Amino acid sequence: MVKNLSDFQIQYIKGVGPKRASLLTRLGIKTVKDALYYLPYRYEDRSNIRKISDLRYGNTETVFGKVISAEVIRLPGRNLKIFELTINDGSGLLKGKWFNQPFMKKNFKVGHEVLLCGSVKRNPYRGIGFEMDNPEYEIVSDDGDPLIHTNRVVPVYRVTSGLSVRQIRSIMFNILTTCIKDVSDTIPAEIINRTALPDLSQSLSQIHFPDSYVDVELLNRGVSDFHKRLAFDELFMLELGLAVMKRGSILKKGIAFNPGGTFLKRLMEVLPFRLTRAQENVFNDIIRDMKRPYPMNRLIEGDVGCGKTIVALMAMLTAAECRYQSALMAPTEILAEQHYINIYRMIEDLGLKLCLLTGSMKDRPLNKIASGEIDMVVGTHALIQEGVVFKNLGLVVIDEQHRFGVMQRALLRRKANNPDVLVMTATPIPRTLALTLYGDLDYSVIDELPPERRPVTTLLFNSKQKDYIYRIIKEEVKKGRQVYVVYPIIEESEKTDLRSAIIGKNALEKFFPEFKVMLLHGRMKAQEREEIMASFKQGEIDILVTTTVIEVGVDVPNATLMLIIHAERFGLSQLHQLRGRIGRGSYQSYCILLAYEPYREEAKRRLDIMVKSNDGFRIAEEDLNIRGPGEFFGTRQSGMPDLRIANIIRDGMLLSKARREAFSIIDRDPDLKGFPLLRKSLETFWEGKIELFKTG
Ligand code: ADP
Ligand code: MG
Repeated sequence: MVKNLSDFQIQYIKGVGPKRASLLTRLGIKTVKDALYYLPYRYEDRSNIRKISDLRYGNTETVFGKVISAEVIRLPGRNLKIFELTINDGSGLLKGKWFNQPFMKKNFKVGHEVLLCGSVKRNPYRGIGFEMDNPEYEIVSDDGDPLIHTNRVVPVYRVTSGLSVRQIRSIMFNILTTCIKDVSDTIPAEIINRTALPDLSQSLSQIHFPDSYVDVELLNRGVSDFHKRLAFDELFMLELGLAVMKRGSILKKGIAFNPGGTFLKRLMEVLPFRLTRAQENVFNDIIRDMKRPYPMNRLIEGDVGCGKTIVALMAMLTAAECRYQSALMAPTEILAEQHYINIYRMIEDLGLKLCLLTGSMKDRPLNKIASGEIDMVVGTHALIQEGVVFKNLGLVVIDEQHRFGVMQRALLRRKANNPDVLVMTATPIPRTLALTLYGDLDYSVIDELPPERRPVTTLLFNSKQKDYIYRIIKEEVKKGRQVYVVYPIIEESEKTDLRSAIIGKNALEKFFPEFKVMLLHGRMKAQEREEIMASFKQGEIDILVTTTVIEVGVDVPNATLMLIIHAERFGLSQLHQLRGRIGRGSYQSYCILLAYEPYREEAKRRLDIMVKSNDGFRIAEEDLNIRGPGEFFGTRQSGMPDLRIANIIRDGMLLSKARREAFSIIDRDPDLKGFPLLRKSLETFWEGKIELFKTG
């Protein structure tokens, strides 16, 4: 990237000084390098000079002529001064007007050659026909200085009060003319050559002050080759950091598990189903990693309901057999509680000790974990708190990775000496993206649902169709099935007019006196929640009224109907996750989206996709399109550096290229000894996020 220019304070650039420098910091510009990367957000094509006689009213045009008069006019009786400039280009006259800016007069002299650019108006009075109000202007200097505000494709920058776009443009021009020669490219030339993208200094100058041959359309969309070059740089730095981290963990010594498979065999005997081919393949990936003497770092991706939990349990049993402890971390207490109950049931006869660890528990079994008496711990964030010490943690499993960031993963990993790490997610995203977002991880997909699953039928209803919805609920419960009713909030509040779970529960109880209706939400005590979940699972509750606490992981195959109240308020991935709670057995399941009108077009799009598709992959993709990558992935909290120019979705091809190049250079030169400048800019890029080069 740029050498030294990142220390060059903007204040010392010609035309800046301390006062403007402090205004520029508001735009995030402190150094010359910041300025170079402060890109125009759009461009205006002022390169076509029009003859005055050819002007059309209403069009924005650029004209070139000689000043024939320049004077300030006072309108009688009004406190208004107008500076009027009249120019002649041989074909006609045009008047430029500036309101209450009498000081403009000193800029112009009769005989000056000037360019004016603005919207062409009709003169309301007699005399010359054409006018422009507050046009952009530029005076042709005798010294042959280049034109930067007119007669070209002109960059437009975001401004701040006290600094006009014209001033910023001039500052940028000064920077480019004086400093562009000092821009040094830290990415090896051979890599750039392979991308066939232009070089860095050319890209920066063309983005700020494009030559006439550059396509304005591409510039405006931010996808010119010059933009792509800058995007590539960012993506390359991103991937290079990931490559270094990954390389670091490969070089680390880890546990080489040496299982005989006895626990697994006994698990298979009690399991009421056979593993799918996809589950077997993924478990083979895991076991291969576990046997190797390096730490495993593997991501398991699979749509909701594909059966990730059992695969995780198999890995945990493998660790237990080799006398290592394992920990499973889930994003919510309800999910942790449920994993605990399920796993407990499956391993009851194996003689292993399992415990639960969540924030709301009073008696935490910390001593037993520290002494090694406990073999497996299932918990929430509580697992990564200080105070939690393991005797010999060998395997860490993180469920629903999309809810956690890189940092939390690192914290749990630190509870042990290079343990094997398995993370699981139900957010299906394209491979390169997954590899990037989950950084240093290897990657396996469970791309198959257990057999005999019937796709959930999803229906969209409005509030006038409630009677019909009640009838469907009644029928399902009469058949012996169970129902979730999901609300966006627990209690009514003054801030919103949303329906709430508490009121909803009371209404349902009145409506269905013959059914057992219970409430479950995140503010309840853990024990109460556990009891309710357990009795729902046992079929003792017909209708469970709840909130998004059941969004992830909860598994009750007999529940076949989900009613989502205020479906218009939920995000797409969230709706898909919620819907994943049903359709888990062999019965036909129904998801009813109850949407209260009016709602926005975007909500309509989400609801339509839900009705049309059960495919988590498609839904994630649509969600990405609707929300954009930043919000979708919550990149901030994930611990990734911010990308200012690149967009990991739009620039997917560049991302793949960047990844390939970055990993190949790190394979050849893990510490970047041969590339000191590159190494330096890499550290700057990842500053504060991750300690590079210290992991090995
Ligand atoms: P997720 O991948 O969403 O975490 P779970 O692990 O909760 O899915 O599994 C969903 C349901 O599917 C559970 O009831 C589980 O017991 C069941 N299941 C898992 N694997 C299989 C299989 N191979 N055949 C049939 N049912 C399975
Ligand atoms: Mg799960």
